[in-house]
Amino acid sequence: MNYLLSTLILVFVLSTPVNGQHHSHTADRPIVFPDVPGYLTLSVDLHMHTVFSDGSVWPNIRVQEAVRDGIDAISNTEHLEYQPHQVEIPHPDRNVSHDIATAAASDTDLIVIRGAEITRSMPPGHNNTVFIEDANKLLSEDPMEVFEEAKRQGGFTFWNHANWTSQRPDGIATLTNMHRELIEKDLLHGIEVINHTTYSDEALTIALENDLTILGTSDIHGLIDWDYEIAEGGHRPVTLVFTTERTPEAIREGLFAGRTVAYFQNMLVGKEEHLVPLLNASMNVSSAEYGNNHTLLYLQIENTSDVSYILDNKSPYTFHQHADVVILEAHKTTELQVKTIENLESVELTFEVLNAITAPDTHPTITINVDVTTGE
Ligand code: ZN
Repeated sequence: MNYLLSTLILVFVLSTPVNGQHHSHTADRPIVFPDVPGYLTLSVDLHMHTVFSDGSVWPNIRVQEAVRDGIDAISNTEHLEYQPHQVEIPHPDRNVSHDIATAAASDTDLIVIRGAEITRSMPPGHNNTVFIEDANKLLSEDPMEVFEEAKRQGGFTFWNHANWTSQRPDGIATLTNMHRELIEKDLLHGIEVINHTTYSDEALTIALENDLTILGTSDIHGLIDWDYEIAEGGHRPVTLVFTTERTPEAIREGLFAGRTVAYFQNMLVGKEEHLVPLLNASMNVSSAEYGNNHTLLYLQIENTSDVSYILDNKSPYTFHQHADVVILEAHKTTELQVKTIENLESVELTFEVLNAITAPDTHPTITINVDVTTGE
């Protein structure tokens, strides 16, 4: 071997990572939403499984998927009472999945939250509790005792897939007396409105009527990439939490305060006071000017979010290139030519956002204020 070649090989060897695991530390398909006034917008997935209950992967895979998705926090919420792999993988400690995930996330920015799934027939069905201290102490026959122990530990507890056809053959999420009691005793704080690939109008009604926090979760058992067709541009469901800091405690505070929006399938679901600021933060007018010798106002509207917004025009103007429905594609700038008839210094455009949901059959209305002279 000549000297030059051996030198080149040496350089190559030295520049190759010695860590043979090659796990990804970067978000290559990030879920992206802008912050809102006063709060950071964090994305969290608080319902996931591994081999330590009925999932199919080791907990470090959940960490790597989350890092690639660029989400801020996860919780491995293993079924407390259902462990089909316990013969092959004996695991008396109900905290082990969380502990493995925490170690796997130690060289990443991902926040890993301790959680568990309280797994019962209906009522109360399946419920997750997160931000607990010790999942082992949640093992108890009496379901009310489990919820009370979760509360003692500081847990945020929410009702999973209330629309699940295995427990509700009609798919209609329905509050039971036990759930009413749990809510009255402050033992139930949230409800999944989006679970896996399902959305529930009825769960949203239960959230609004009982002031429960709205959640969307993946409930992933296999691989995020396969269930959600990431290669085809899909994404997992997440809960967007509006927080004062990027810390576990701030996420917990945001969840208890109900400052959330659930995101899945190009759709946002949340209470109006949280959804409207997110919509406003997502759409920015980057320029506004009249054409020469006519009164068409050319607007450039930038959408900085992952959702392609479907807007229904409620303004007193019509458009030169669109009918009443305008789509602002995700992470793109859309030109809107507004027929204002005379040259105006400011224009107010009003739209109903059809793929944002604040209640069943209800979409929020946003106002885009355009200052023609400065472009905003
Ligand atoms: Zn589950």
